[in-house]
Amino acid sequence: MTLGRRALIRGAVGAAAALALPRAARATGGIIEGDADAAQLGATPPPISVRPLPGDSVRVLLLRARPSVSLSAPQGFALFDRAPGTPPLLRAAAAQPLAVDAALLARASGGAIAEALGEGPLYVDGRPYRGRLLLMSEGGGVLVVNELPVDLYVLGVLGREISPAWPPAVLQAHAIISRTYALGRRKDAAHAFDLSAGTADQVYGGMSAESPRGNDAVYQTRGRLLWYAEGLASAFFHSCCGGHTESASALWRQEIPYLQGVADPYCVGAPHYRWRSYIGCDTLRSRLGPDISDAGQISALQPIDIDPSGRATRIAVDGSRGQRDLEAKVFRQRIGTSVVRSTLLHRIQVADSPERLQPDPAFDDPSPAPPPQPPRGGPLAMLEGAGWGHGVGLCQWGARGLALRGGSVSEILAFYFPGTSVRSAPSSAGAQTPR
Ligand SMILES: [Zn+2]
Repeated sequence: MTLGRRALIRGAVGAAAALALPRAARATGGIIEGDADAAQLGATPPPISVRPLPGDSVRVLLLRARPSVSLSAPQGFALFDRAPGTPPLLRAAAAQPLAVDAALLARASGGAIAEALGEGPLYVDGRPYRGRLLLMSEGGGVLVVNELPVDLYVLGVLGREISPAWPPAVLQAHAIISRTYALGRRKDAAHAFDLSAGTADQVYGGMSAESPRGNDAVYQTRGRLLWYAEGLASAFFHSCCGGHTESASALWRQEIPYLQGVADPYCVGAPHYRWRSYIGCDTLRSRLGPDISDAGQISALQPIDIDPSGRATRIAVDGSRGQRDLEAKVFRQRIGTSVVRSTLLHRIQVADSPERLQPDPAFDDPSPAPPPQPPRGGPLAMLEGAGWGHGVGLCQWGARGLALRGGSVSEILAFYFPGTSVRSAPSSAGAQTPR
């Protein structure tokens, strides 16, 4: 046990070393001499210019519309004008937080770049991040983007998207699709960032999200990407498919050969493989808003137009003034994805009181989570459904189940993305759109 743990830690140290950013360039002239702050910097020379990032990098939106953000770094940091060839705007001393606001950014011609001096992360409001920060003013507030090599970015994704305690094959498969997804989302320089750090893309937590097991999975798969023919695959994923993944053509009307939807026996028993949720009819009506405003009192809701995966493509709403229907994915977005966890809906019941609701016992499964208790009062709706997420691509809980049955990284990816292959990029993989 002790040996295993030591080996893991050694592996993580190796991974970190192999993925580390290059050391700070030595200052041989220029800004350090004659600068009154130089004494504060101690023995660590500052960068004399913005350092290039190795390999493919991504720009991740961390914060926006903030009046100011607090930045710090263990050995201090430098703030540069984004216009190349200009001297640093300022240098902050070691471990000294500095508030950056729109007034400070107005001193830069087109935004600023913050880089840590020496090794170590940059802290944004107390949270550590690798790479560097791009700072822009936007509508009087501050927009903060973390730019870093894609492999370092994936270190901070794995611990937010799945548990580091899951089998290595799942962690490695996820590292490959997270890396592929990120490079596939890269945009040109006209865009301020490529991805957001939230659920609109992949959840990214910077160094706080890292773990030795996750870092090892990134290291073991470094540079590996998911391909279809000569292009990067659209590497979508979701939490749990509920028994059948969704096709891209059904959800987005895009015909993608390797995203056709597969029957998935491996996520049975996942926490949201089967679920029930409740919502008051008043809340339902206010969230659906103009879509059903002229339908009157809601008396019934029904999933209709079921696609080949079993998901509803439309929801019919019976009201006291007639029937309306709306797209199921719009219904899910409007009501909220924690109430309508998927569009793989078994049934929706509407009743005047919780006592009149009749859960379908045949729909229950041995999920570890107990079903929620219905709220008091009514009228209300009870939804019964399967899985959590849009259902396209890799099912995270299914990939775990497959790995626990001995499935390898390539077997997991071939199951959820049939016809794709895993290989390294011969050169800059995501560079279809030059910066
Ligand atoms: Zn599944």
